[in-house]
Amino acid sequence: MEDCLFCKIAAGEIPSKKIYEDDLVYVFEDIAPTAPIHYLLIPKTHIKSAAEVAAENSALVGHIFEVIAKLAKDLKLDDGFRVVTNCGDSAGQTVKHLHFHLLAGREFGWPAG
Ligand code: 5GP
Ligand code: ZN
Repeated sequence: MEDCLFCKIAAGEIPSKKIYEDDLVYVFEDIAPTAPIHYLLIPKTHIKSAAEVAAENSALVGHIFEVIAKLAKDLKLDDGFRVVTNCGDSAGQTVKHLHFHLLAGREFGWPAG
């Protein structure tokens, strides 16, 4: 296995607060939340970042967005929510395993950063 924090979280080797799981995706609470709801959605397979999305794995990314829509419905995020993926160092990607931040519960400024 990759020596990767999020691979270990998805495999249950490092504890996390699970929100949702299926065969392909694992969702858990961010350890340092920046909004009342701050979840991370990760593929269970190791993909380094959005820069590595290609024909072989893009269906998985589509599935992650289906899960985002389902969670938003279940959590009644009718006022809106934000989905963020940081890709690469200058964008602030600190964990090199593709992840999508799902943020909600407050107002968000734009443009970010
Ligand atoms: P990035 O900065 O790469 O876009 O996002 C990484 C996110 O992972 C950060 O928001 C950070 O708080 C979160 N994070 C880092 N280590 C852990 C951990 O061990 N457990 C959990 N639940 N979140 C983590
Ligand atoms: Zn990984």
